[in-house]
Amino acid sequence: MNSAVLVDSLGRRIDYLRISVTDRCNLRCIYCMPENGIQRLGHDEMLRYEEILRLARIFASLGFNRFRITGGEPLVRKGIVDFVRELSAALPGCDISMSTNGILLAEVAAELKRNGLHRVNISLDSVDPHAFAEVTRGGDLNRVLQGIDEALKAGLVPVKTNTVLMRNVNYGELPDIAALTLSRPIHVRFIELMPLGEACSRWQAGAFVPASEALAMLRSRFQLRQAVLDGGGPARYWRIPGAAGTVGFITAVSSHFCSSCNRVRLTAKGGLALCLGSNLEVDLRTPMRSGSSDEELRRIIVEAIRRKPARHHMGEPGNGGGGEYGWREMFSIGG
Ligand code: SAM
Ligand code: SF4
Repeated sequence: MNSAVLVDSLGRRIDYLRISVTDRCNLRCIYCMPENGIQRLGHDEMLRYEEILRLARIFASLGFNRFRITGGEPLVRKGIVDFVRELSAALPGCDISMSTNGILLAEVAAELKRNGLHRVNISLDSVDPHAFAEVTRGGDLNRVLQGIDEALKAGLVPVKTNTVLMRNVNYGELPDIAALTLSRPIHVRFIELMPLGEACSRWQAGAFVPASEALAMLRSRFQLRQAVLDGGGPARYWRIPGAAGTVGFITAVSSHFCSSCNRVRLTAKGGLALCLGSNLEVDLRTPMRSGSSDEELRRIIVEAIRRKPARHHMGEPGNGGGGEYGWREMFSIGG
C-alpha cells in the first residue's frame, strides 16, 4: 500500500478517482442523456485502456486507493471485463468498484468478480416495468433485477442501488423501491436530482425532491431505524425492521458534503474534472500523448488538485434552477 497522501489547498485528503471509460450508453435516462443520443467521441478522442492504466498507476502513486469505473455505461465498452483484470492487477490493495445501469451485468458479474472487481452500484429509478422503461427510455427492468441478483451471487458486495428522486416520476414508488431491501441484502440509496445537463429542465419544472422529504414520507410508511454501513460514503442509512438491506439518502444538493469531498473524476477523453459543479477540467490526454513522463503527469495532477473548488453551488438561488449547470454532462463525467 502506498503511503503518499495528496491534500488539496483546503486540507481535504483526495484519494478517490472515478474513471469514466466511455460516454456511450445503452439507455437514455430522462435526467442524463438527450432522447436522440449524443455526439459520440471519436475513437481517437477517447483514452485507450493502456492510457487509463498508466494514469491509474500514477494516481495510486499519489496515494489514491479508491477507484470507480463508470461511464456512460461502462459495460458497453468492448474489452471492459479484461480491462477490470488489468486495472485490479495494476492497483494492488485498492478498492475497485463500478457504477452500471445493470442491463448487461447478469452475464458478466461472476467474471468481473474473478477479475478483481470488488463491488457494484446499480442505477434503479423504478421497480415498475412500464415506469422503468419510461425513465430510461426503453430499459428492461427484469434485466437489471437479474443483474442485481447475479451481482449478489457473485459476491460483488456491498451491492448498492441508486434511485434519483423525481417528483411526478418515481416519488410515489419510493416505498416499493425501499421494500426491495426486505428480501435482498442490498443498499438502496435515494439521490437528490442534481440540476446538471439534461436534468436542468426537469429541475425547472419542479422535479427536485429534498431527501428530507423523501425520508419523512418513508418514515410514515415504515418504522425506519438508523443503520451504519461500513464505507457508506456520503449517504445516511436506515433499516426497515427485519430487512436484509438498508435504505440510504444522498443529500448532494440540499446539504452538500463538499467540505469532506475526497474525489476527482477522469473523463472518457482524459480530462481531470475537479468538481461536478465547476467546469474546471485539466487535460491529461494531450500531455500524455505528447510524451510527458510519469513525473510530469504527476506534477500536472498535483497542481490541478490544488485548484479543486471549495464547494458547488447547485440549487442555490441563481444557480441550477436557471440552468447554469446545463453544460455539465453526467454521461461524460460518470456521476
Ligand atoms: N451508466 C451508469 C449508471 O447509470 O449507473 C454509470 C454512469 S451514471 C452517469 C452514474 C450515476 O449518476 C447514476 O446513478 C445516475 O443515476 C446518476 N445521475 C446522472 N444524472 C444525475 C443527476 N442529474 N442528478 C443526480 N444523479 C444523476
Ligand atoms: Fe446511461 Fe447511466 Fe446516464 Fe442512465 S444515468 S443514461 S444509464 S449513463
